[in-house]
Amino acid sequence: MPTKNDALLVVNAGSSSLKFQIFKISGQSLERLQRGQIDSIGVRPSFSVRDGGGNSLASQAWSVDEVPDLPTAISKLAAWIESLDEINLCALGHRVVHGGPNFSTPVLINSDVLNKLSAYQELAPLHQPNSLAPIRLAMELAPDLPQIACFDTAFHRSHQTHTERYALPEKYYLQGVRRYGFHGLSYDYISRQLTKVAPEISDARVIVAHLGSGASLCALKDGKSVETTMGFTALDGLPMSTRSGQLDPGVVMYLVSHMGMSIAEVTQLLYHESGLKGMSGISHDMRELLASGDARAKLAIDHFIHRCGLYVGMLAAAMNGIDGFVFTAGIGENSPVIRSRLARTFRWLGATLNEDANVSGALKISKPDSKIAIYVVPTDEELIIANETLSFLKANRFI
Ligand code: ADP
Repeated sequence: MPTKNDALLVVNAGSSSLKFQIFKISGQSLERLQRGQIDSIGVRPSFSVRDGGGNSLASQAWSVDEVPDLPTAISKLAAWIESLDEINLCALGHRVVHGGPNFSTPVLINSDVLNKLSAYQELAPLHQPNSLAPIRLAMELAPDLPQIACFDTAFHRSHQTHTERYALPEKYYLQGVRRYGFHGLSYDYISRQLTKVAPEISDARVIVAHLGSGASLCALKDGKSVETTMGFTALDGLPMSTRSGQLDPGVVMYLVSHMGMSIAEVTQLLYHESGLKGMSGISHDMRELLASGDARAKLAIDHFIHRCGLYVGMLAAAMNGIDGFVFTAGIGENSPVIRSRLARTFRWLGATLNEDANVSGALKISKPDSKIAIYVVPTDEELIIANETLSFLKANRFI
């Protein structure tokens, strides 16, 4: 019998992907044992797992019939976890997109908490059900296993009230209509990481650009979020892969009242058929647009850069200037072209990019005389969840 390692499983369920990581608990620290994902669920499902050193442990493609939806993907993940003889699962840590007004720290999930989080489904209709599905299954399969929820909204609860408010009567705020902000687990990770990789800006004024299929910017002051581009839902702010980003609310009223669209049709349009995909009519994937010679692809990219540039100005204004800028997530970490174009939109703030460093994959990509230090820092939402989960378990004497 192999010795079993005490371990944590972190689950990050998105709209079309299910990411997970397994960490061995070694005293106060964590060692990554596995990192895997099920991608393109319902379209071109594929499963891949790597060990802590990056070596492939499993790689498999499925037909759409085999993995048509997220619940099926979660069952496949459960089967994979059950097959691992060498781990003794102590707890699960989950990424939960919406913590609403009540949850600003990690929480142990029980049926009462689950009911509260289910109520927030209305605040994040396309994200919250996915976050909660793996929690429900684990409750059925292993009711005694502690499950800890970590929230994407929590990191932004440091905002001042005038920042959180919409210019609506107070009763809407009290009923939860607020600018919550999202991608908080990623920003939390970057904020902590800056103390190690860029200590000269870690307690200064920094904009972090989380540019993935979902995209937002966060203004960090002394490592805390003071402003962000997303609001009540993860639809606000920058244009994204398939989401429109910020829109005059009058457009929604017009689509409903004059174009006869139902709320469900508008929801489908703004979450799934807009952004890079909708503008280009070609692809939601920045890589494909960059490779395309089509004028519509160029238009979508130009729009993306333009809007990002405007929002950089907005967040710079929120902090009366910036000292640092960080690129992260799929586009931010991997596209020198987009980084270079975006950096040009804030040259007016004194930023100068070192193009050689930018293309060579360096950590710091600004010139020595740049007034703004520009970095590329890969994000790791699962590691933040694992650390938060471990701290919670220790603080509450679960382990
Ligand atoms: P999420 O976690 O929100 O699904 P990611 O952070 O993994 O998203 O980012 C995914 C996106 O990153 C893809 O849609 C793709 O457009 C973009 N991306 C990945 N690699 C590159 C690259 N080399 N150049 C441009 N874009 C890229």
